Amino acid sequence: MKVTEYFEKSQGQTLISFEVLPPLKGGRMQAIFDALDPLMEFKPPFIDVTYHREEFIYNKRESGYYEKTAIRKRPGTVGICAAIMHRYGVDAVPHLICGGFTKEDTENALIDLNFLNIKNVLALRGDARKFEGKFIPEAGGHPYAIDLIRQIKDINEGKYLDSNIENGEPTDFCIGIAGYPEKHFESPNMEADLAHTKAKIDAGANYIVTQMFFDNQKYFEYVEACRNIGIDVPIVPGLKPITKLYQLNSLPRLFHVDLPTDLVREVEKAKNAAGRQQVGIEWLIQQCKELKAAGVPCLHFYTMGDSHIIRKVAEAVY
Ligand code: FAD
Repeated sequence: MKVTEYFEKSQGQTLISFEVLPPLKGGRMQAIFDALDPLMEFKPPFIDVTYHREEFIYNKRESGYYEKTAIRKRPGTVGICAAIMHRYGVDAVPHLICGGFTKEDTENALIDLNFLNIKNVLALRGDARKFEGKFIPEAGGHPYAIDLIRQIKDINEGKYLDSNIENGEPTDFCIGIAGYPEKHFESPNMEADLAHTKAKIDAGANYIVTQMFFDNQKYFEYVEACRNIGIDVPIVPGLKPITKLYQLNSLPRLFHVDLPTDLVREVEKAKNAAGRQQVGIEWLIQQCKELKAAGVPCLHFYTMGDSHIIRKVAEAVY
């Protein structure tokens, strides 16, 4: 079923969903099941699986020179989606990115997803690769998420890249996109970022999942700003517990989000790792309770190795 259909059918109830990352290459599928098994009693209707572009690594050769090699460290998104659907009978939402894909690659990926009866995709641009200052699309690929959305809309209408294909099977993907309550870091300002988000909705995207945030006010203001410019699709808050001291710096650096002073103070004050974890759990529980009371469509948790913590939060909130 489509993600938006779950929201329509929920009659105002706040659903729950999770995002998982493929394990590092060489890892086990069981690691994903171990992360999800304890969370399935909360009955998520859908689970997202992230996509990871190839990265450059430098291997030292016998000569002493370094060889630059491109490898995908976390392959397996589509296979994991299929395994999740098979094991749990829930919908899987693969993330699909522009980076590393030609239009032909994208079309072939969409055909695979359609044949697997996957009904939803989260359409993203992807980030710049390490050692590249800015996002560089694949030759013959898409520079922005909106271009990917347009391609998905085309295939939804049975329009394939090869114009010789007549009566191509129309797919029926529901399209999610990313939203940034604290602005996408490359955007000159919030207005410009919102205008690009509105353009993605006008191009056919059906719902938004936000970047993580730790201050609900940022989410509420973002939703209001979206509504004010005519974005009327569901806006799902993305949530993550903060549990470790180093995250006070790594989360702002990696995800371009601010951490509220009270949260930072409490994490710093905690005496040990268990204390810090407790601070993070209690903070996220309060965030979730307030968001649920405000009637958000779904609480979407970035599990990122924290599923035992998310379980505690979900127990307190559902
Ligand atoms: P876009 O919508 O293309 O926007 C990128 C930037 O360009 C923004 O600043 C935007 O304002 C601007 N812009 C957009 N359109 C135009 C235009 N026409 N002209 C000029 N400027 C424009 N990354 C992964 O690699 N894999 C994942 O699985 C993944 N999952 C994610 C899930 C969520 C919920 C979120 C919030 C992010 C995720 N990301 C993932 C990260 C995402 O790829 C990055 O944030 C990326 O930098 C931007 O992606 P986007 O889809 O928002 O890009």
